[in-house]
Amino acid sequence: MTEDYRSQLFAYAKDFNDLLRQHAKLQHRHQSLLQLQGRETNSSDLLHDLIGASRRPLLVTDARGNVIRANRGARHVLQGNGLHPLIGNLRDRVDAAGAAELDALLQHFAAETTNEAMVLCRLGLLHSDLPGAVITYTLLVMRARDMDIAQIHWQFLEPDAGQPLESLAPQRLLDMETARFAVLVTDPQARILAVNAGLCVMTDFTAEELLQRPISVLSSGRHTAEFYQAFWERLKTFGSWTGEFLNRRRSGNIYPELRTIKSVQDLNGRTLFYVSASHDVSDRNNSIEKLSRLAYHDALTTLPNRRLLDDRLAQAIKVARRGDDGLSLLFMDLDRLKPINDVHGHAVGDQVLQQVAARLEQTVRGGDTVARIGGDEFVILLPGINRIGDVEEVVRKLLTTLSAPITAGEFRLFVGASFGCARYPVDGVDGDTLIRNADAAMYVAKQRGGNQIGYLDVDTAIQARPTIGLDVWGAAERGEMRVVYQPQVGADLSRGLRGFEALLRWQHPVHGNIEPVVFIAAAENNGAMLPLGLWVLKTACRQARVWQDEGMGGIVMSVNVSYRQIQDPEFSSQVCSILAQTGLPPGQLELEITETATGMLEDEHFEQLQSLRGMGVKIAIDDFGIGYSSLKRLSTLKADTLKIDREFTRDIATSREALALCQCVLGIGHAMGMVVIAEGIEQVHQIEILAQHGCDLLQGYHISRPLEAAAVPEWARAATTCPRP
Ligand code: C2E
Ligand code: MG
Ligand code: MG
Repeated sequence: MTEDYRSQLFAYAKDFNDLLRQHAKLQHRHQSLLQLQGRETNSSDLLHDLIGASRRPLLVTDARGNVIRANRGARHVLQGNGLHPLIGNLRDRVDAAGAAELDALLQHFAAETTNEAMVLCRLGLLHSDLPGAVITYTLLVMRARDMDIAQIHWQFLEPDAGQPLESLAPQRLLDMETARFAVLVTDPQARILAVNAGLCVMTDFTAEELLQRPISVLSSGRHTAEFYQAFWERLKTFGSWTGEFLNRRRSGNIYPELRTIKSVQDLNGRTLFYVSASHDVSDRNNSIEKLSRLAYHDALTTLPNRRLLDDRLAQAIKVARRGDDGLSLLFMDLDRLKPINDVHGHAVGDQVLQQVAARLEQTVRGGDTVARIGGDEFVILLPGINRIGDVEEVVRKLLTTLSAPITAGEFRLFVGASFGCARYPVDGVDGDTLIRNADAAMYVAKQRGGNQIGYLDVDTAIQARPTIGLDVWGAAERGEMRVVYQPQVGADLSRGLRGFEALLRWQHPVHGNIEPVVFIAAAENNGAMLPLGLWVLKTACRQARVWQDEGMGGIVMSVNVSYRQIQDPEFSSQVCSILAQTGLPPGQLELEITETATGMLEDEHFEQLQSLRGMGVKIAIDDFGIGYSSLKRLSTLKADTLKIDREFTRDIATSREALALCQCVLGIGHAMGMVVIAEGIEQVHQIEILAQHGCDLLQGYHISRPLEAAAVPEWARAATTCPRP
């Protein structure tokens, strides 16, 4: 070959390659677009594409050897310096010996078979410039299809040096440099023989770290033995496999890749190599993720949208239905967004919304959901929160975080918010009703001037489910009610068991668990409270007597009583008869009256309680500190026990005011000769502070949640052998 000729050939090859590269780029862009649309990359083309982009001589024929296409390199092989006319059929370029080889090859590829393996073979072709001379080439031949017409792709690897095919340098099998994908070659035992730069970039391994190592160095360990078995079976039977692998990068990171593997066989079907091309599809997965983010998230703020909120709300309602914790929903409407939009434009308004969204998310707990469901409307889902006090605590934090100025562009802007609260199941038992009611409650807050929280009151909630009032009649007799018991223990280190508070539960056949505050209010309004209250008293006293007989000596049973019960002139005699019937000593019964309820009582009712107290029954003032009663009047009640409301104990470690209030209540209680119980103990640090300040008794989830009656003896045994910290 002359030097001139060589450089001309080189120039041709370069042109061809440039074209191919450009084509590859376009195709890559096209594929990225397809990927974005969530469509699969046509992976079996990975390898064809790779081979097509090769700088080597490539010839495409039909099944009979008629030439369809030839790149410059192939034309040179067949035509020499171009003076020969372009051949029509490969047969024209072989001698007699070559014709036999060619026939064998054409027969092999013409056979109806499912084998998609590539064939590594030799073929002697007549020298294009030296008449009579034959050059034997090593060829990689594969079946292909174009518009459903069978084709054969012939790649000229190199003039053959007569070595055994399996000892061919693996780099020669694939044109590794031009590959756009991650490419590797293994021996039949799947030991890595060659990799390209793309594979090193994808996996972060260097070539040295991979060569001669089993392919399993890239395994993620995420696939099952059955997966690999099916994979090898497919590869051995069909000579080809395409699919997604989870592989491992050098750092241990797992990534998904789309891989096509082909076996390279000799004409006898013996596997000599495996070649494979792959590319990282985590991007595609990310784009699927992106799409799903768009479907479930608000594009401006990236917060969950109404659809995702509905899903999460349905899930949270399911959980709430099974347990006692309930859930609350806050509907939030941003005050003053409209004037910001009007004065500064929508771009600034958008920035405000984004910053508000970020602040809301930072303020709530991990399990809560902040969703944007409309222009300036947000919904905050608070699973596990159902006490008004807790909801207000969240709203207080949200209002504080929103009160800081928002910097948008050159402006410092101030927004406010109105919140409406709906709680499950009080204000609704399904998502739509809860959102609607929270929205309605938000208007209450807006009407009052905004920057606060509004509620649908209990009466409205009962009206919304009119059957509750009726159903509460006879619910206990129908077996829908039960009493659970929450332990009260000493605040000293021994944590001795003092007794239990009886708490009523109603499993409504349609509405599920209904919060006591709701059905107690309904019962108080329609007269059902008297029989219901008696039923609780009887159940709790009977239970206390059973436990007393089982060895829990001297425990106090605290029973909540409604102001309606105390207003009933028969109340004290009914209590007496229950004590007599059950045999519980009067000193072991405590009646809890909320501070708020005392406001509904007249002096004569106080006297009724005093007569009971005279018999030894204890009186407790419940939820002390949140009502409006006068201390003077309370002092005439002469109670034995004061219960500090959870509102104060909750913040005792973080708020000086809460601590001061607790100290105050402890002071008042002790000064009036009362025993003080702290309610709502959820954390150990609350105990330390309360004990330091002389609190007598503790009650709360940290000690124990309210227990089913059957679980109490076991709990009590465990508590005496191993007191809680
Ligand atoms: P309460 O008498 O103040 O009862 C304590 C409430 O606080 C109970 O809620 C209890 O489950 C809950 N609680 C106890 N420890 C913790 C804690 O550590 N964290 C939190 N977050 N909560 C705690 P429950 O059972 O929902 O009762 C609510 C209210 O309903 C009671 O407040 C009481 O006023 C009333 N109630 C319950 N049963 C009866 C009853 O049989 N008759 C009457 N009249 N009222 C009842
Ligand atoms: Mg109570
Ligand atoms: Mg209480």
